[in-house]
Amino acid sequence: ALEIRDITRSFDGKRVVDRVSLSIAPGQVTCLLGPSGCGKSTTLRMIAGVEMQDSGTIHVDGQLVCDTVFRVPPERRSIGLMFQDFALFPHLSVGENVAFGLKGGGAERKARAHRLLDRVGLAHFIDEFPHQLSGGEQQRVALARALAPSPQIMLMDEPFSGLDNRLRDGIRDETLDLLKEEGAGVLLVTHEPEEAMRMADEIALMRAGRIVQRGAPYTIYNAPADRDAMAFFSDIN
Ligand code: ATP
Ligand code: MG
Repeated sequence: ALEIRDITRSFDGKRVVDRVSLSIAPGQVTCLLGPSGCGKSTTLRMIAGVEMQDSGTIHVDGQLVCDTVFRVPPERRSIGLMFQDFALFPHLSVGENVAFGLKGGGAERKARAHRLLDRVGLAHFIDEFPHQLSGGEQQRVALARALAPSPQIMLMDEPFSGLDNRLRDGIRDETLDLLKEEGAGVLLVTHEPEEAMRMADEIALMRAGRIVQRGAPYTIYNAPADRDAMAFFSDIN
């Protein structure tokens, strides 16, 4: 489980993330939904540990991973990352990409990579290189890579935005199934209400650095907290 308490971050004297608190249970998908520039990616980067918060705390499974003086490095947080530019390593094979962050012997790592690639339907590409795969296939390899070390928490920042509509629905559903199967808690950033409605167990609505409303998708859709929230959802039909 992930617990974020009151994390805040300013750039040039301007608060872009303002006392954000969130908790994510294993197997749960929370969508952080809000307009461009509201602070979604900055929030994710602080949880991942690639950006430092000014104040507030982050716990993973009850363990403190970050406060203002103490900081566990990103690779030791049991957090998987999937960002918009999911860039696979071009000089490594598909199998090596997936096995990259794994510990243990070669055979064991390769078996885990094979199992995950098989799960996303790409085991036959294990010895190919990323440039030989389509965008959608690369996306699925990136998902397998992010899940390989069995992270407790998976952070995803607009991971489907580079895909065309036809591919997107399939990969979205497939991703969701796999994440649930693996039991990871998921924090998914999107600025598309439809995507949040489709994927989330819970939506956290963010605006100008703050979480303004949290709840089940249809609760928020049916009873937005204010006019801005309502306007945000009015695009869906
Ligand atoms: P989008 O949906 O467009 O990706 P976002 O919600 O992810 O937007 P952030 O990337 O978190 O937004 O940025 C929030 C604000 O913080 C923006 O105004 C941005 O310009 C500012 N910001 C982010 N990183 C930095 C930085 N390193 N230095 C200065 N300002 C920054
Ligand atoms: Mg962003």
